Amino acid sequence: MTGQHRIVVLGAGYAGLAAAQQAVQAKGARVTVIDLHTEFVDRVRLHQVAAGQDVPRWELRKTLEAKGIEFVAGRAERIDTAARRVELASGGVVEYDSLIYALGSRADLGMVPGATEFAHTVATSEDVRRIPAPLTGRVAVVGGGPTGIETATELAESRPDLEVLLVSADEPGSWLIPKAAAHIRAVLDRLGVRVHVAKVAAVTAAGLELVDGEHIAAETVLWTTGFTVPEVAARSGLPVDARDRVLVDERLQVRGIPDVYAVGDAAVMLGHNGREARMSCQAAQPAGKYIGAAVAARVHGKTPAPYRVRFVLTCISLGRRDGVVQFMHADDSNGRTVLTGRKAAWIKEQIVRAVGRAAKL
Ligand SMILES: Cc1cc2nc3c(=O)[nH]c(=O)nc-3n(C[C@H](O)[C@H](O)[C@H](O)COP(=O)(O)OP(=O)(O)OC[C@H]3O[C@@H](n4cnc5c(N)ncnc54)[C@H](O)[C@@H]3O)c2cc1C
Repeated sequence: MTGQHRIVVLGAGYAGLAAAQQAVQAKGARVTVIDLHTEFVDRVRLHQVAAGQDVPRWELRKTLEAKGIEFVAGRAERIDTAARRVELASGGVVEYDSLIYALGSRADLGMVPGATEFAHTVATSEDVRRIPAPLTGRVAVVGGGPTGIETATELAESRPDLEVLLVSADEPGSWLIPKAAAHIRAVLDRLGVRVHVAKVAAVTAAGLELVDGEHIAAETVLWTTGFTVPEVAARSGLPVDARDRVLVDERLQVRGIPDVYAVGDAAVMLGHNGREARMSCQAAQPAGKYIGAAVAARVHGKTPAPYRVRFVLTCISLGRRDGVVQFMHADDSNGRTVLTGRKAAWIKEQIVRAVGRAAKL
């Protein structure tokens, strides 16, 4: 024990890195980040990686240490909140005075039979590495949400030799305003992506079984619908919701557990009008910044102001040359303005670059 306040950040994603960057500014604090990866790969670009593109990556240890932040490579298994320590799969332990839990999310492959065995995902960098390379024949992308739309369009544009299918329970993009959804459909058609509005009942070695009994043959199934979170919080007795996301108060403190905070996809963060914030980098990175500064303030005996997630845009890339940018109200309900085409692709790319730069500190 050095007499310094030990702030430990679990997870070097958008939320964790933003938190560490702020926390390290507290005088008298020592900040340690723990992650199972040694390299940062922009998660919001993983559909591009799946389509065979190179994306920026960088060494966590080198970048963090240059900022005076300690880095521990390891998988967190459990948090002992009584002893104030994190137990790693390696058997090591890391002690803390304040803990920021930012372990993010991963694909939920438990939604239909066969998905765990036969489907691939683009949810994490190791998931993408497991996708058969090179992809051949027909690829069925399941999920008409942002990740499914981005993955299907990126694949179709980068790999015109593939037959890309998008299988979705609803019209892709139907949660956006009609102009945005219509543009998404037009680009899917232009890129030759065949849209199948149907519910998937099971994934098999040969493709998909639909609820109506139809079979869709596919060489590869990419499952993009449904995200879940690491079980570390639940396993450690932190309060969690039915999806294992950590329950926090309006200052992102874990309910009933002093000096432990949770942020990003792994937490139930509230937005304006009390709405639960959707899992997104848009919510995770600013909230990480808030909690890092809040913990730093607490080290000096100050109580931070409450926090509310605020949304501004929904940006969806449709390959490298097209996109949709829809303005949102602060509570994440649809605004009335939407940009499409090259301008939208450019805006999305600038935002992704800015997010990547901010993550790199
Ligand atoms: C293909 C794709 C495109 C996306 N596009 C967008 C977009 O355009 N806009 C947007 O807002 N959002 C987008 N998202 C969602 C966004 O990536 C997530 O919401 C965001 O990454 C959440 O940030 P986070 O810091 O909470 O978690 P993450 O970024 O997931 O970081 C969590 C970190 O914890 C580490 N970790 C996990 N478990 C352990 C463990 N047990 N021990 C140690 N370390 C662990 C992981 O290695 C990871 O580094 C996209 C997601 C995907 C998959």
